[in-house]
Amino acid sequence: MSWMDSLDHVMSNQLEALAPETDQHARFPRPVVDALAKAGLLGLVSSKDVGGLGLGLAEASQVVAKLAQTCPSTAMIVCMHYCAVAVLEQLGPEDVRRDIAAGKHLTTLAFSEAESRSHFWAPVSTATQAGNDVLLDARKSWITSAFEADSYVWSSKPLAVEGASSIWLVDAKAEGLSLAAPFNGLGMRGNASSPVTAKQVKATMALGEDGKGFDIMMGIVLPWFSALNASCSVGTMEGSLARAIAHVGATRHQHLDSSLADLPTIRAYLAKARIKADMANALLQDTLAAIGGGRADTMLRVLEVKAACAEAALEVTDATMRVCGGAAFRKEVGVERLFRDARAAHVMAPTTDVLYDFIGKAITGLPLF
Ligand SMILES: Cc1cc2nc3c(=O)[nH]c(=O)nc-3n(C[C@H](O)[C@H](O)[C@H](O)COP(=O)(O)OP(=O)(O)OC[C@H]3O[C@@H](n4cnc5c(N)ncnc54)[C@H](O)[C@@H]3O)c2cc1C
Repeated sequence: MSWMDSLDHVMSNQLEALAPETDQHARFPRPVVDALAKAGLLGLVSSKDVGGLGLGLAEASQVVAKLAQTCPSTAMIVCMHYCAVAVLEQLGPEDVRRDIAAGKHLTTLAFSEAESRSHFWAPVSTATQAGNDVLLDARKSWITSAFEADSYVWSSKPLAVEGASSIWLVDAKAEGLSLAAPFNGLGMRGNASSPVTAKQVKATMALGEDGKGFDIMMGIVLPWFSALNASCSVGTMEGSLARAIAHVGATRHQHLDSSLADLPTIRAYLAKARIKADMANALLQDTLAAIGGGRADTMLRVLEVKAACAEAALEVTDATMRVCGGAAFRKEVGVERLFRDARAAHVMAPTTDVLYDFIGKAITGLPLF
């Protein structure tokens, strides 16, 4: 079975049935994650040398976009996993890379902190030497898959040198990690995005050189996170449009013998939403091509794509709520959940407003930081 067929199989056999309760009960979709692991999809971007499928960002984008059509929570869990895998593939230990490839290990990013909030490039949490060990103390404000993942790709201030940050691999079962509060969000309710406190937590190992965390964040993580977060927004728009179109086609004003789709106003809203979604996806595909081809405009595209797709998803899911009328408020039409889920992307760091500032600086020739 091709990886695409495997994905379709997991979606029709596991994800579609579980998606409503994942949202309603804010429950981590463990059976779906297990099914994705068994299908080899958690090892999608792991090298063939360690037993992975050896595929890249373009294929990861397809997986995340497809999952997001039905369950953005699951899509975001997979998005954060692939972003952390991108770091581990370059800097992580072989045993962990092999476990990821074999579907035995889920990972995620632990960057955001209570003190520096969305400014993830400026951690204030600490790393201190204690004999042969490095001990981490932090108040991480959000970690997707908190206490569900097996490891965290973790940021802190450097251990012993000047620099913005260092990156560590942390075992999610390490002593000293505690869940500050379970996640009960407006949207993305199934992805266990909880605050986590670390008190004297032993780092498994350093990922890269001390003090070089900023280079890892910008050089490895940012392109993956921007493109995959955008993919999640693109999938959410597709899912929302499909449900809204089905609703307006099937719902009738019986006294007029016409459907909602017979109303020009409804069709115009849908047309505008379709254009937005297609423009967002076109930018995503161009960004993937820029990254893949090492194009000169890659960094601009990387900064643009997350903001563009996140904002488009806000507009498109708002339009789908509107055209479905009061019925949209109820769960069964299926658009209100995607409307709530879509709201996460623009506040996930780098937030849309921070990206506007970065893009503005880039195009006016100013330094980003
Ligand atoms: C569902 C979900 C899952 C997440 N998962 C993870 C995860 O797995 N790992 C992780 O590390 N983090 C994760 N995060 C955290 C995320 O990346 C952000 O750090 C967090 O959403 C920022 O929220 P805040 O309240 O701290 O923002 P604040 O920093 O308080 O920002 C508040 C507002 O100010 C704006 N703002 C801030 N600085 C500027 C500026 N310089 N210019 C213009 N406007 C500015 C922001 O855009 C925002 O609108 C997740 C967040 C969500 C919502």
